[in-house]
Amino acid sequence: MNKVILLNKRPVGKPTLSDFKFTSAATRVPPTGHILLKTLYVSVDPYLRGRMNDSKSYVPSFEIGEPIQSGIIAEVIDSTHAELKKGDFVSGNLEWKEYQVSDGKGLNKLNAKVYDLSRYLGILGMTGLTAYLGLTEIGIPKEGETLVVSGAAGAVGSVVGQIGKIMGCSVVGITGTDEKVKLLKSKFKFDHAINYKTTPDLKEAIQKVCPNGVDIYFDNVGGKISDAVLANINKHARLPVCGYISDYNDTKVPVGPRVQPIILTKSATMTGFIVGDFSAKFPAAIQQITTWLMEGKLAYAETIVDGFDNIPQAFIDLFDGKNEGKMIVRV
Ligand code: NDP
Repeated sequence: MNKVILLNKRPVGKPTLSDFKFTSAATRVPPTGHILLKTLYVSVDPYLRGRMNDSKSYVPSFEIGEPIQSGIIAEVIDSTHAELKKGDFVSGNLEWKEYQVSDGKGLNKLNAKVYDLSRYLGILGMTGLTAYLGLTEIGIPKEGETLVVSGAAGAVGSVVGQIGKIMGCSVVGITGTDEKVKLLKSKFKFDHAINYKTTPDLKEAIQKVCPNGVDIYFDNVGGKISDAVLANINKHARLPVCGYISDYNDTKVPVGPRVQPIILTKSATMTGFIVGDFSAKFPAAIQQITTWLMEGKLAYAETIVDGFDNIPQAFIDLFDGKNEGKMIVRV
């Protein structure tokens, strides 16, 4: 039978396993012009939390009783499609099912070997694009500037910091464990890294490692971490607002320091973005990231969890920082 994961109920606060429901369905024979896909790798991403709510956003909410969707790499195992053949690998926004039928629309055929495939959910996929485009289009790094990245050891953050280094910035990462602090400095070559969970005065700690102030703040987390960084920004700072995971499970509207006095007095620019805003630039961005990977200038990390049944837990674990780099489930 074909296992499927549905939204069981809308989470209140941090998601739990009971918010998901496992069911099974017969595997359909693909009609003419369609393909049958076998799921190989599933991306779990913080933004899926927003889709579990019943609220308007830039992507529609998941419906209760319907399958959850996310970025998936799959193998074509049966086909009467004109272009996609048995044995091809594809990526796309697909349902949390072991097998599914598709008409091929919206899928990208991957020219990759099996061992390479997971990269198309991370460094060569949505999170790599988010890092590159958010930083270069909004952060606009210049040689000698100081870049601070929160969520620094995650899929987006670890790439942002490295691109900042390539572009000549001094790079500071903020993350949640000492192991991740080490990883940022060794594997990803950040200049400094701070553990926000064990640092009593984050504002002061940032000031210490950013003696010239902060020119770019790439914000993945929002909340108190961002309050501490904002207190250190320079005149004309740029702040790409990529995510605010620290508030995704809030049940009340969070209240913190008002940002207007800082943004105004520093003539700073705070810009929210969705990676899709830059879709016209995806091909050039992927080309640049691929070049850096081939030149050995970019490293990447993946946390691979095995088993279809573990998809919901892997997703929940993002909110406990259990991942280093991109969190992926191998089916
Ligand atoms: P990550 O790989 O960074 O995983 C999430 C990480 O967030 C965890 O590992 C954890 O690391 C950290 N975290 C969890 N809870 C908190 C908290 N309460 N406070 C601070 N940090 C926390 O995820 P992604 O790289 O995929 O995404 C990073 C951010 O970018 C997210 O906010 C996401 O929604 C956003 N995003 C936005 C996109 C856009 O188009 N704007 C596209 C893709 C992602 P730690 O151990 O350091 O706490």
